[in-house]
Amino acid sequence: MKAAIFVKPGKMEIKEMSKPKIQKSTDAIIRILRACVCGSDLWWYRGISKRESGSTVGHEAIGIVEEVGKDVVAIHPGDFVIAPFTHGCGQCAACRAGFDGSCLNPTESANGGYQGEYLRFEQANWALIKIPGKPQDYSDAQLNNFLTLADVMATGYHAATSAEVKSGDTTVVIGDGAVGLCGVIGARLRGASRIILMSHHEDRAKLGLEFGATDIVSERGTDAIKRIMELTNDNGADSVLECVGATSAIKQAGQVARPGAVVGRVGVPQIEPSSNTLFWKNIGLRGGVASVTTYDKNLLLDEVLKENINPGKIFTKRFDLDHIQDAYEAMDKREAIKSLIIVADK
Ligand SMILES: [Zn+2]
Ligand SMILES: [Zn+2]
Repeated sequence: MKAAIFVKPGKMEIKEMSKPKIQKSTDAIIRILRACVCGSDLWWYRGISKRESGSTVGHEAIGIVEEVGKDVVAIHPGDFVIAPFTHGCGQCAACRAGFDGSCLNPTESANGGYQGEYLRFEQANWALIKIPGKPQDYSDAQLNNFLTLADVMATGYHAATSAEVKSGDTTVVIGDGAVGLCGVIGARLRGASRIILMSHHEDRAKLGLEFGATDIVSERGTDAIKRIMELTNDNGADSVLECVGATSAIKQAGQVARPGAVVGRVGVPQIEPSSNTLFWKNIGLRGGVASVTTYDKNLLLDEVLKENINPGKIFTKRFDLDHIQDAYEAMDKREAIKSLIIVADK
């Protein structure tokens, strides 16, 4: 089978590999239909974080289950599924509390191999999300919506949940990448009445407005903070979604939050932030790895099936597996909000 591998910073390749096999009774083998490149993949693609040369990559996909281990009873061969990047066991204290992204039974193969023809998926019984029917029953746009439920839409929703967005809130979203844009959808689903998206790119701002943002702040630095304070009558926002991960973004989140607000962060933190602003304004900071399976099963799959949300619009360029290098370059050069990879038609 073909799979994408990381060669060195800036260089991806397709390699012929042996098809994965069931190793544990809780595994499933999935034939991948669609995968995609994540903003977090750019950390190692750009050489900012380390990754082993020759390792398989990708952590978001949809596909068809081919085979399951003997303890997998909720999912069957032939099922059409979402393969999240998280592998919640569904039974530990973290999973039961709704934090399957921090499952206490971690797996060895997490975070790699989804950008390929076949995937060995651990903790398949609980972590996989079954989509009703077959891929052929859905439009191209719906298939892309399902794919976002493997990571980015659930992560955006997690930012909104972590920020405790509630009905009537004025919410600020920092970051206009795919996660920030899905954060706008998340804030809307949780009932925010005003959603201020900070965006410097016209195409991303436009999609943000379509997803439910009510205001766009395109200024940078202190001008951006000034503008948000004007928009909130000098109070600051009730909730803030930090979808970047840079220290400057967390600092900015504290500056635009009203006293007593909560900041939800899902950007993978690069450096620990100074927490002084948060202290003086009684601002809460929480967030982490998204509860993908929990959100998909409780809410997000239903919202997609009802066509209430269209997060798949973040895929602005598509590639086949053989053009994996182009898929990464498009994200790296910001030519695509998110790169879609078509692995198989059906
Ligand atoms: Zn991701
Ligand atoms: Zn667990």
